[in-house]
Amino acid sequence: MQLLVWFAIVMAVVYLGSCYFHPYMKCPRCNRSKESHSTTFKGAFGKCRACGGVGHSVRFGAKILGRK
Ligand SMILES: [Zn+2]
Repeated sequence: MQLLVWFAIVMAVVYLGSCYFHPYMKCPRCNRSKESHSTTFKGAFGKCRACGGVGHSVRFGAKILGRK
């Protein structure tokens, strides 16, 4: 049981360390293209609504650390 707790602590430290150096992940909706394409009107596109046109989103751990 104690080993499991230590494993969770180590994983949390590794995850937060990763979030510190790599606070962003690519937007799952636009895949970093930053665009949202219309399915009805060909060629029409706008800013990706999921990421607001930046192409990436801030990871959960990075928000905890205040990295944006
Ligand atoms: Zn996006």
